[in-house]
Amino acid sequence: MTSLHDLPYPALERALVADGLRPAHARALWQAVHREGATQLTERPDFSPPLARWAAEHTGAGGRYFLDAPTVAADTASSDGLTRKFLLRLADGQTIETVLMGYTGRSTACVSTQAGCAMGCVFCATGQMGFVRHLRAGEIVAQVLHVQRTLRARGAARLRNLVLMGMGEPLHNADAVLTALEILTDDRGAALAPGRVTISTVGVVPGILRLAEEKRAFNLAVSLHSADAAERAALVPASRRWPLAELIAACRAYGAKTGRRIFFEWTLIAGTNDSPAHAEQVAALLSGIYAHVNLIPLNPTDGFSGAATAGAAAREFQRVLRERGLPSTVRQRRGIDVAAGCGQLRAEKARAVATTLSPSQ
Ligand code: SF4
Repeated sequence: MTSLHDLPYPALERALVADGLRPAHARALWQAVHREGATQLTERPDFSPPLARWAAEHTGAGGRYFLDAPTVAADTASSDGLTRKFLLRLADGQTIETVLMGYTGRSTACVSTQAGCAMGCVFCATGQMGFVRHLRAGEIVAQVLHVQRTLRARGAARLRNLVLMGMGEPLHNADAVLTALEILTDDRGAALAPGRVTISTVGVVPGILRLAEEKRAFNLAVSLHSADAAERAALVPASRRWPLAELIAACRAYGAKTGRRIFFEWTLIAGTNDSPAHAEQVAALLSGIYAHVNLIPLNPTDGFSGAATAGAAAREFQRVLRERGLPSTVRQRRGIDVAAGCGQLRAEKARAVATTLSPSQ
């Protein structure tokens, strides 16, 4: 069986034509799936008779196609009402996190690209749980459609921004991610603007070079966290495979090829990477790169003993960057009461289950 959410428009059109339908039928089907976010395709009065027959034959029980339909295992809203976090259960029982931030015209979805993650960043709840599997393109698309249905149910404006910063390393699953983004940016469906999509990476060098080579019009965010190779390797084990010098060379190549600004993410951890000297170091490292630094005070996790940098130290760090001509933003730690750091809600739910089970074991 194939998920219709896995298929970009040309593949869907070929599939329908192979089944004797006309190319125009693909547009009606695509709009139902990707613009409306339909969760079933039978008994739709807007489908022409041939398409309705095809849908009844091929997308029902025993059909060749299905729709990815994750179920909601948990749905939590932050106390300020601006962040909503979903734990979605996939067909094989794996759970992934999807976050909706803001309900105004500027809403942003943050989606997962893998169940678990192989990169092992020490301060990250997903890294602490290890890698389970890659998500298919359709499983990434379905998260966005779930968020859009949520917004529609609230009468809110359509989704504006998409960030791939949930569970998993997007460039470790680049084929599925790029297929999902081809689907989600198709004008005939979800129609997200490529310039409002951000791919986050911990520094998977081949993936960065691929984005450069293919001149993809998405934003790139590189999780840096340290400008010192040894210190970074302690926080981000993946940097032993793609060392800092190689990563920065790839970023320079990306900038030269695309002319695009790169966002560098810096988790501020008190006493670890938040001194003015660290700020001097990052300014020197990124010299000559069209860059913007996002400073994010640490979201605490049970598996890491570090604490978030205080506001004054964060402002001082930012002041040093500004003096060196490097623009930056201190990000709010939004949604901390809904465990909005990636992997935290899944970890919390797993702990709750373990606690429930442990007295009888
Ligand atoms: S921060 Fe991102 S790349 Fe690192 S372990 Fe967590 S999910 Fe993976």
